[in-house]
Amino acid sequence: MLERKRGLPLVPEKLDAQPVTDGIRVVQNSVVGQDAHTAYTSWVTTPGGTVVIDPGNFRTSSMINKEIARESGKPVRYLIYSHAHMDHIGGAAAFADQHPRIIAHENTIPRLERYALTADYIRHINSIQFHFSIPPGRYSPVYPTETYRDEYRFELGGRTFELFHGKGETDDHTLVWVPELKAVFCGDLLEASFPNLGNPFKVMRYAREWAEALERALALDPDFAIGGDVVLVDRARIRELFKDNIEVLRFLEDSVVNAANEGKNLEQMIEDIQLPPHLENSPNLRQEYSRREFAIYSIWKRYCGYFDFSPSGLLPRPRREIAGVVRELVGSDETVLNKARELMESGQLQLALETLDIILKVDYEDIPARRVRQQILKKLTGTDTCMMSRNVWTHYLEEDEAFLAKQTEEG
Ligand SMILES: [Zn+2]
Repeated sequence: MLERKRGLPLVPEKLDAQPVTDGIRVVQNSVVGQDAHTAYTSWVTTPGGTVVIDPGNFRTSSMINKEIARESGKPVRYLIYSHAHMDHIGGAAAFADQHPRIIAHENTIPRLERYALTADYIRHINSIQFHFSIPPGRYSPVYPTETYRDEYRFELGGRTFELFHGKGETDDHTLVWVPELKAVFCGDLLEASFPNLGNPFKVMRYAREWAEALERALALDPDFAIGGDVVLVDRARIRELFKDNIEVLRFLEDSVVNAANEGKNLEQMIEDIQLPPHLENSPNLRQEYSRREFAIYSIWKRYCGYFDFSPSGLLPRPRREIAGVVRELVGSDETVLNKARELMESGQLQLALETLDIILKVDYEDIPARRVRQQILKKLTGTDTCMMSRNVWTHYLEEDEAFLAKQTEEG
């Protein structure tokens, strides 16, 4: 495995292109300045020109373009999009001077159109998910010049590029196999941690098809495997990482589908579906970006509706009304605050947050409740090792800190 760098700057002073094998180079790009989220750009140099797989983000792509020209002196003839996520293709415009053919799966186009339709929503949720300030304004992606449905094949300078479609983190993934080099490029379908199968803000993903795509890639018997945030150069490691990913994807898919068929609702699935210990403790499946709960939500969302099999769940009233009834029954906010503090002290941080909602769903600007919430969120940000959930806690912690500072100023 190529060593994955930590603490990468958003814009490096000097590009660190690393050889994978003869003719393949990669650059690890920081995306939002956080170690749990980086994305590789790869390129294959041939006597007939260069093929770039994922031009990367706009901060580094022009440096990559210059590096390729410096290193090989060969034009970039093809850009291949592994999928339409901006950390992989946002920098494509930097290659425009070379007029490459741009190949992507056909689902990339409706995906880019959807991103344009919901651009403001996406900017808002990404600023929470990545805890990263994203400036307003419309992003203009570079659309592919050619798309395909199942497979696409071309040759360049004595190398063959066999592209095939896979669904998983998105519905538009392209995997690339170069048989002469025994190298497979998997985009974000291959990562060195728990697969990014669920995201609390975003559309559902595809566990079963993801496993199938990895099985197809593994059956090619690769010597080199390049994923979204991992580069593997050891055959045994490749097999181990693929197998762990395939197993966890199939386990989660089957568990949710079985639970749905047994009449369980989402709450029960989150409680009941625990990973077997060898997957839970696998160093290949650390839940450092996504996590088990998000994956279960995502699979459930794909197959099921919102109904929770209780009559009160069919047409629920706004949570502020339920909280109002409970708050009135309790009769004293101090009792609620004390209970929330007690739960926090005993480490039941989620339950503490939900207890506080008895006040905050009715009055979001209640100062004592926001003070307790600030303490709970501080503990959560200090202990949660999953990037997406930690960033959510951080977002609301900062909101509480700003709110409470304003009260002190005004008081
Ligand atoms: Zn992605």
